[in-house]
Amino acid sequence: MTIRTRFAPSPTGYLHVGGARTALFSWLYARKHGGTFVLRIEDTDLERSTAESVDAILQGMTWLGLEYDEGPFFQSHRFPRYQEVIEQMLAAGTAYHCYCSKERLEQLRAEQMAGKQKPRYDGKCRHGVAQPPAGVPPVVRFKNPEDGATVVEDLVRGRVAFQNRELDDLIIARSDGTPTYNFTVVVDDMDMRITHVIRGDDHLNNTPRQMNMLKALGFPPPIYAHVPMILGPDGARLSKRHGAVSVMQYREDGFLPEALLNYLARLGWSYGDQEIFTLDELIKLFDVTAVHSSAASFDPQKLQWLNQHYLKTGDPAHVAHHLSWHLGRLGVDPASGPALPEVVVAQRERAKTLAEMAQNSAFFYREPAGYDPKDAAAHLRPEIAGPLEELRARFAALSEWTAPALHAAIDAVATAHGLKLGKLAQPLRVAVTGRALSPPIDITLALTGRERVLQRLDAALVYLKNLAPA
Ligand code: GLU
Repeated sequence: MTIRTRFAPSPTGYLHVGGARTALFSWLYARKHGGTFVLRIEDTDLERSTAESVDAILQGMTWLGLEYDEGPFFQSHRFPRYQEVIEQMLAAGTAYHCYCSKERLEQLRAEQMAGKQKPRYDGKCRHGVAQPPAGVPPVVRFKNPEDGATVVEDLVRGRVAFQNRELDDLIIARSDGTPTYNFTVVVDDMDMRITHVIRGDDHLNNTPRQMNMLKALGFPPPIYAHVPMILGPDGARLSKRHGAVSVMQYREDGFLPEALLNYLARLGWSYGDQEIFTLDELIKLFDVTAVHSSAASFDPQKLQWLNQHYLKTGDPAHVAHHLSWHLGRLGVDPASGPALPEVVVAQRERAKTLAEMAQNSAFFYREPAGYDPKDAAAHLRPEIAGPLEELRARFAALSEWTAPALHAAIDAVATAHGLKLGKLAQPLRVAVTGRALSPPIDITLALTGRERVLQRLDAALVYLKNLAPA
């Protein structure tokens, strides 16, 4: 049997981390078993679904690298098919027309509530309606089995049994003919021959209904794995109020996709005490049956730790690819300066995120907006003009623009003026980068390039000349 899994988001917002986690699990399951991963957009709720959300979901999937083998299939394109299956079920007697008015259903509900019963449809139209009321468009209900139990052998939750008599006859088509959510999922899982449904455990109560409908259609229900939701650090369901919940917000905040994936896989799942997993390792080792059935809490610090790990150890060219996007957001053209992988190597020890790395690296590519006032006050003082001028001359004369040659030049000038290296390096750093914080000065200068360094030293000398004498 070929394994077929799916991710079935409703496009009513961005791709959030909970969705990304179930998508990752479905993707890993398919990859591990040489199966197929299907993307299905559940956009039957035409009012709440938007094209922007579809785009946001697709972008999130692409950024995470969760490539799908089939789809995206849109439920909104499949209405004729749903209609066909409804007709088929009506003909087979596994569904029926119900003419009960809203008023009757409301009254029934009120009576059941008053009698402390669980509100449910009483099956009035289940055995046929002698005389359908004129002019009343009926809804279609599924004829749910009345006896026995439906058992979900859930890969995460274990065995969960539901009494069929607790499940009432669910509406599968509204009076305007449009299919309902639980029904479209069933038709799609059947038509897409889904073998494993991995989804949030907020859907667990839908599962016995969906299984019964699949059985009525003669299709063996898939295997289910209901993954617990993600909580914020305070124990409440993860939401915007806890900070970023959208996958693309993590991109904007400067996270690498592999850090987020690693983090989401480890959230509620463990393999010994291993924390770092490459995607290939996850494909090999991740086991959905070992996901904890209790909810997991999101720990932003751990995600940040993983991000730093991947920034520090990742292939510089790969990190550079992501850094380039962040520089672009700052309006910096990465082609106008040093090779990005070299910048990554120089910067990666001191940045927690790509956004920070981009901020710290813009000076390589364009003039700094000005000196940091505090750093300038501390380091750009009139007495440093002489040594900086001498440095400028030496730099201009260097036969090769390399870190060791630059280092030697700085050393020589510092010694000649009786200055500790730092007393010269800091003013130089502020002059060239605008701030007192950068990679080692020789590397900073080597990457910035001779032309830019000389220009910026000239500007600093003008600045120093214009300072009011102390
Ligand atoms: N569309 C549903 C959601 O976004 C998922 C349904 C499913 O996976 O069966 O929550």
